[in-house]
Amino acid sequence: MGHVLSGKELAKTVRADVKRRVSESTYRPPGLTVVMVGEDPASEVYISYKQKACRKVGIESEVKRFSADVDQSEVLAEIDRLNTDDDIDGILVQLPLPNHLSESTVAARVSPGKDVDGLHPVNVGRLWRGESGLFPCTPTGIVELLRHYGVAMDGALAVIVGRSNIVGKPLAALLLRENATVVITHSHTSDLPGLTSSADVLVAAAGSPGMIGPDHVKPGSTVIDVGISRTEEGLKGDVDFDSVIDVSGGVTPVPGGVGPLTIAFLLRNTVQAWMEHTTGR
Ligand code: NAD
Repeated sequence: MGHVLSGKELAKTVRADVKRRVSESTYRPPGLTVVMVGEDPASEVYISYKQKACRKVGIESEVKRFSADVDQSEVLAEIDRLNTDDDIDGILVQLPLPNHLSESTVAARVSPGKDVDGLHPVNVGRLWRGESGLFPCTPTGIVELLRHYGVAMDGALAVIVGRSNIVGKPLAALLLRENATVVITHSHTSDLPGLTSSADVLVAAAGSPGMIGPDHVKPGSTVIDVGISRTEEGLKGDVDFDSVIDVSGGVTPVPGGVGPLTIAFLLRNTVQAWMEHTTGR
């Protein structure tokens, strides 16, 4: 029977560290603006979590709202304004955007130094080149969770299910930096179980509830469940937790696994950007 790898304890430590850095500083508080287009109910829930978390650590956050049919030029103009606002350290564009807006154009407009989601091409390039920058919060949280539980990454075979720009691809880059051997699988991969069942570290980020069962998992391995799907039975991850925990060495639960880390590392990215703006460090 494997261990439950909770993200709550590490998230608490990261939040406490952020709060301490903000409270000990003599500079103005960090500022985060969330840009929200339309009224997606799941996005509204995430934004309220983010705002509450910011309040608790002393980060000033605001939401800039646009109607679902807003012209892209209006959103870009607001990002231009925020890029030059000296009180704003982080700009986060809540995804998904309505179809008529280009996520890549909008992401590329945010100043790289304020890009707390790590989606600007400059930060993506820095990530793959092994340089420092602002990197996506969920993959950063996953690597820190593995470190927290002492899971070996150096030399490990890591298999990622999902190749999105926000989870799968940046996680591959971060695990490469930890000297893992990385395989990225996706919806066109043939023989998924054949690949996942060799993994020392398996990360499921497909958004397909319960798709990873015991046959996908190598005995004793570590399984990280990123998926969050709203089903009739409540929130479900991509991993069938009850059966996989019997095979694996450790599994993250949903909720309470990766989710709390995503918000904690958003706070940390915001403070990183703030420190660079205010002290040049
Ligand atoms: P996405 O839809 O952008 O990407 C999903 C990826 O999974 C795609 O690359 C697709 O090819 C792959 N995929 C889908 N079905 C597959 C299958 N059957 N076999 C193999 N690959 C398959 O999603 P995303 O934004 O990366 O999010 C993935 C999941 O993680 C969602 O459930 C999302 O809600 C969740 N998520 C959670 C957090 C968190 O904080 N815990 C953060 C971000 C995303």
